[in-house]
Order: sequence, then structure tokens, then C-alpha cells
Amino acid sequence: MAFPVTRMRRLRRTAEMRNLVCETRLTPDAFVCPMFVCPGEGIRKEVKSMPGVYNLSVDEAVKEAREVKSLGVPSVILFGLPDKKDEVATGAWAADGIVQKAARAIKREVPDVILMGDVCLCEYMSHGHCGIVKAAPQSLGAAVAASPAVSTEYEIVNDATLEILTRTAVSQVQAGIDIVAPSDMMDGRVAAIRAGLDEAGFTNTPILAYAAKFASGFYGPFREAADSAPQFGDRRSYQMDPANFREAMREIELDLEEGADMVMVKPALPYLDVIAAARLRFDVPLAAYQVSGEYAMIEAAARNGWIDRERVMMEALVSIRRAGASIILTYYAKDAARLLG
Ligand SMILES: [Zn+2]
Repeated sequence: MAFPVTRMRRLRRTAEMRNLVCETRLTPDAFVCPMFVCPGEGIRKEVKSMPGVYNLSVDEAVKEAREVKSLGVPSVILFGLPDKKDEVATGAWAADGIVQKAARAIKREVPDVILMGDVCLCEYMSHGHCGIVKAAPQSLGAAVAASPAVSTEYEIVNDATLEILTRTAVSQVQAGIDIVAPSDMMDGRVAAIRAGLDEAGFTNTPILAYAAKFASGFYGPFREAADSAPQFGDRRSYQMDPANFREAMREIELDLEEGADMVMVKPALPYLDVIAAARLRFDVPLAAYQVSGEYAMIEAAARNGWIDRERVMMEALVSIRRAGASIILTYYAKDAARLLG
């Protein structure tokens, strides 16, 4: 039945009518708030490229977690800025590492918050890569070797990295982390972490795998926030090519086979197609990470008066939800929760 019998605008006439037929509702309990924890006390240092996002010392992180929880946001995910870095990421797995300290303090003061631990090594490695780095022999033959520009060939060693990731995950859970979220993109890390957790007696700790994590320019501001920019090269040998959809499906499938309880797509807005397809294909909780660059773009445009900040913030979040993510990691967790509350 077409026009004039059918008139789509009938159901759009009033705010109440529109609300009645709304298909996608955001609630604060879908949000996870990322937090960057740093050494010191009383520190609340704004990240330049992410206005409104801070590096927080442990005491401030506790306050922040309490505030997040009071707004109806159930969960925070912790990233750490260690006081020193090395080539084996000691700060990631040390019992007194910065994330471990924060986890203990938050669990003590705000016990009902769901604490997620980002499991990766880049923030703790002097070179800023997500795994162990070793110099690699030239693989492309004499033509490449002859070029001085590529003479410092290196490799991110997969299998040896798994051991450090596993140690990191176990140490985080010992400190009170409720859900471990490996973000490194090494092959086999989910299985290695699952085995390590089980062996340590943490059979009940779920794994949220950053399963489809793309090598994205949208991570730029995060690298300032977490001081984790690679000192040389880039992450394309382990993170995914933004052009590859089918490979993303394979990555998710493999992480589930390895024992992931939940999976994530990252970034969110440029990969809504991947989120939507993953929702249809895999019957597990699906998360999406609205990353630093997605946040920074909205903030920058809003500051210039080019867009309506709140409106665009909510539109971006609802689009991620509509695509199929039931869990959204977002720097807007608090602001969006306030608007929804
Ligand atoms: Zn990393």
C-alpha cells in the first residue's frame, strides 16, 4: 500500500510518537569507560588531543571509577602508564604494576564496578610495539638489503610474546581485574591466556578479545594518552588491514575457537559493517570501541562550532548500538550517561 494510504510521517509527528517507535535505545549499562592510570598522587592531567580525558593517578582513578558507577555505567577498562619501560614489558605483569595497583585500589573502594584490564604490552615496551621485537634477517632479498632505508628490518615475535601476555593477564586478575581484554593481535593469545588463567585457578574469569582490531589512523590521540606510539615502524604486521572484511570474520571465529567469551571490533564508526556482520554471524556478546580519534574529531569540530557536540555524540553512539554492538567502550561514557539519566 503506497502513498497516499501510506504516510511514513504519521509516526514522526510528535516527540512522544517518535519515542514510541524508536528501534534502538541507548542505556548507560551498555558503556565501558576507558581510564589511563599513571604513577603519582593527586594527578589529573588532561590529554591534549582528547579534551575531557585525563591521565589519573591511582587515587584519582578510584574517584573516577566511583563517579562512573554512580552514573549507571557498570564498567571501566584500565590502561597503564608505567614509570619506566623496558624490552620485556615488566610494568605490564609486575605485581606492583600501575594497572595492578589501580585494580586493587578500585576493587577495595568501588567493589561493584566491573573492572576490565586491557592486556597489551605497547605501553610498557621501550619501543612501543605490542610484542617482543627482534632484528630480523632481510626476507625480500638483495634488492631490499641494498636499500639503506630498510636496513633496520625487525620482527614482532609472536609466540614468545604469548608468554608475557599470559603473565600480564594472570597478574591483572590476581590484582582484581574481572574481565581480561587482550588487544595485542598476536596469533594464539586467547588460547594462551585462557590456559594461563585456568592454570592459575581463574576458570571463571571471562576473556573479551579485541578480535577484529584494525591498523587505524583513528588511534592517534590514544598514543598520546597512553604514551604508546611505536618508536619505529608501525603495527601493520599484527593489526588488520582496514580493507579486509572477510579476514575480520576469520579473526573473530578463531578467537571464539580459542575460548573468547566476548569479542570486540575496533575502531567502531568506520567499521559499522564489520559490527553488523559479526552480530548476525556470531552468537556471543559483541563489543565495539569508539576510539580516541572518533572522540577527538567530534570534540574538535564541536569546539569550532561546526557541529552540535551532544547531538553528534549521541548519534555516533546510537549508530554503533544499531549496528549490533551491545557493549560500547567510549570516552563519552560519563557524558552520555548524564544525558540519558
Ligand atoms: Zn598494544
